[in-house]
Amino acid sequence: MTKKIYIIYTGGTIGMKPTDSGYAPSGNMQALLDEKLPPHVRQGLPDFDLVEYEELIDSSNIRPQNWKQIATDIADHYEDYDGFVVLHGTDTMAFSSSMMSFMLRNLDKPVIFTGSQIPLCEPRSDGLENFVGALIIATDKRINEVCLYFNGRLMRGNRARKQNAYLFDAFDSPNFPWLGRADINIELNDLLLLKPENKPEFHLECSEDTQVGIVQLFPGITAQWLEAALNQPQKAFIIRTYGTGNGPDDDPALLDALKKATDAGKIIVNLTQCHRGAVHQGSYAAGSALAKAGVTGGLDTTTEAMFCKLHHLLSKGHSTQEIRELVGKSIAGEMTI
Ligand code: ASP
Repeated sequence: MTKKIYIIYTGGTIGMKPTDSGYAPSGNMQALLDEKLPPHVRQGLPDFDLVEYEELIDSSNIRPQNWKQIATDIADHYEDYDGFVVLHGTDTMAFSSSMMSFMLRNLDKPVIFTGSQIPLCEPRSDGLENFVGALIIATDKRINEVCLYFNGRLMRGNRARKQNAYLFDAFDSPNFPWLGRADINIELNDLLLLKPENKPEFHLECSEDTQVGIVQLFPGITAQWLEAALNQPQKAFIIRTYGTGNGPDDDPALLDALKKATDAGKIIVNLTQCHRGAVHQGSYAAGSALAKAGVTGGLDTTTEAMFCKLHHLLSKGHSTQEIRELVGKSIAGEMTI
């Protein structure tokens, strides 16, 4: 039987048009695809229905309500389609694909995010290859998770990061192998794919307001600076540290600012500023000091995935203690245990 895919067009470069102030989101994706994929080409591709959101965005404008819209849309159409493709801007695609991996629980169908570096309307666009690749991959029954497909790479959605603003290789999965590659053949790495969990069945867990902040260590950071950041109303913070999770251990006031915040019930998760690698707070005394201040290690989770995981866990109403424990457990394949 012919497979049918549901495509959501949220905006992003793939459908943008030039304006006086640079590329901006533009509608009529269906017409653009009809032009790029004439009937004789379309014949060889899976059937699809495309929904174009009323408010198309540059993904730099992404907000939790956009995530809710995408996740609800997929859940509402879940039974009617074999797979889903989300056309999205590249800037925050790794956040959105991570978020969907936490909101769409127990998937047993593919959800594939893609977009492009050059709009489809331009002669050198990478959009068509990304679109067609994602469409074909979205029919593959072996995939039961949210993925990001870009320039021939299939990556787990909550492992991917935008790594390059210029190359067609815009995304990589620094701490986890690619799930597949599209060359002459599309090859999937079966052993790495998440297996479907039949019980409980697929369901949507909506995430609401953002309650997560991100702070970054820098040479010379002061206790006052950190305190001002941690005094924001957010309940959880990611602290982006050096190397394997190290920070200055010779500044008692700074460590005290962290301790005060964690004692007050704020969740502070340690992630590395390095593109690749994991946090092990015990490797150096400078990392152990953060652990003593109540900071929780986030292992090799990306900042994008941890931001979404914390956001999701807070929305679900878990206690501080439960969240600190769940930070170190893989919920959707987002970390290597
Ligand atoms: N600013 C664009 C966006 O994220 C970039 C892109 O799509 O490549 O929507």
